[in-house]
Amino acid sequence: MTIDVKEVSEKDKRSVLHPFTHLKDFATGKLGEPTIVETGKGIRIQDAHGNELIDGFAGMYCVNVGYGRTEVAEAISRQAYRLAYYHCYAAHTTDELANLSDRLVKMAPGKMSKVFYGMSGSDANETQAKLVWYYNNLRGKPNKKKIISRERGYHGCSVVSGSMTGMRFYHDYMDLPLPQIVRTGAPHHYWGATPGETEGEFSARRAVELDQLIERIGPNNVGAFIAEPVLGTGGITPPPEGYWKAIQAVLDKHDVLLIADEVITGFGRTGSMFGSQHYGIEPDLITVAKGLTSGYFPLSAAIVGEKVYKVFEDGADKVGAFSHGYTYSGHPIGAATANAVLDIVEKDNLAGNAREVGAYFQAQLKKTFAQLPIVGEVRGVGLMGAIEFVSDRDSKTRFDPSLKVGARISKAARDRGLIVRPMPHGEILGFAPPLVTTKAEIDDIISITEKAVGSVMDELVRSGEMI
Ligand SMILES: *Cc1c(COP(=O)(O)O)cnc(C)c1O
Repeated sequence: MTIDVKEVSEKDKRSVLHPFTHLKDFATGKLGEPTIVETGKGIRIQDAHGNELIDGFAGMYCVNVGYGRTEVAEAISRQAYRLAYYHCYAAHTTDELANLSDRLVKMAPGKMSKVFYGMSGSDANETQAKLVWYYNNLRGKPNKKKIISRERGYHGCSVVSGSMTGMRFYHDYMDLPLPQIVRTGAPHHYWGATPGETEGEFSARRAVELDQLIERIGPNNVGAFIAEPVLGTGGITPPPEGYWKAIQAVLDKHDVLLIADEVITGFGRTGSMFGSQHYGIEPDLITVAKGLTSGYFPLSAAIVGEKVYKVFEDGADKVGAFSHGYTYSGHPIGAATANAVLDIVEKDNLAGNAREVGAYFQAQLKKTFAQLPIVGEVRGVGLMGAIEFVSDRDSKTRFDPSLKVGARISKAARDRGLIVRPMPHGEILGFAPPLVTTKAEIDDIISITEKAVGSVMDELVRSGEMI
């Protein structure tokens, strides 16, 4: 298939409203032509000019099984021929849906009971909020509704999930956040700790702050706490030592549900099948999306724990049918896709690969970058990692944001054939390659990044922007 690059570009510029794109710079051509992505194989994508790029971010941390998996394409095709659509309202189902749900309940951490399906991480977190409210209405606690999320947490960009997201640029000019969502501090020791505070002390302080926040609002007004086991879009930040144990104790004390947003950490990325298992978290509700289908089909799920589900079932005589559902809930092609993807995840032991290749990746990242004068912190777990750049490492001084150091390094890497993502809230370069990445491919990723960082460091020195 040949693509008419010029025609596609023109149609795109005329008609597509692109997320996270400076609209005027795009319209005037200042951003250049759109990148037309044409094919993908393994950890690489190819554009319409035939340029190959290593995808060090697995699309959007989702293409865990890599691109071009024919067994997934065949599962999609098979289901599309057999039955492209049916709903799962009023006790309808398909074999793929029943099989997927059974395996999710069995593989998920904690005592899970049922699975509700959506199409995106955002809508799944929107569902979680409604489940929390429904749960407390049925329990006769109509005020226990506030949901606490964290600064720099990312939970989506719909109305409720966007309110849960702790990043201002998702709220400004969009009339968010909603008042039902309350914020607590980010679990990032590097920036959050007071001088001399250890990780353990910092975690304990975050837990005390959460306890005080709940006391201030009133435990009878707080329904849930939502968090990613590892902060994702907020900067790929693993939790500080002792964090989850301390937080979980506060939630248990106040009868506050824990929603683990495993949209990135689910299905192997940390080196464990779920981030909750990696950090000993016991969630009441779990959100999954991205890795569930490796991005091959839009599918998300809210996995509901036994404790919460039991209240729903017991309340049914009083309230009638569970009145929540989407046309595409439990989509048969989505379920078939997820089953084919999870077959690969299990058969090829991708969590094990993320653990083993991930350990190598973390070591190489530290060895190559941690000592550079413009690197403040190198961090990560499994196959997710980040380098945070600062203008002075001793005084932890941030770069002037207008220098766009993170974006420039990302661009320099891209010019050398590697996609790595500049992240908000600092000059941060994020990595989340597919879980099929090999050690040799990690070497390529590290070596291109090293050249990109070196070239931007040279520029900064030459231009006098770095003292
Ligand atoms: C991507 C993401 C979401 C939102 O998923 P969408 O499919 O983009 O709506 C929610 N939570 C986390 C942790 C994510 O990384």
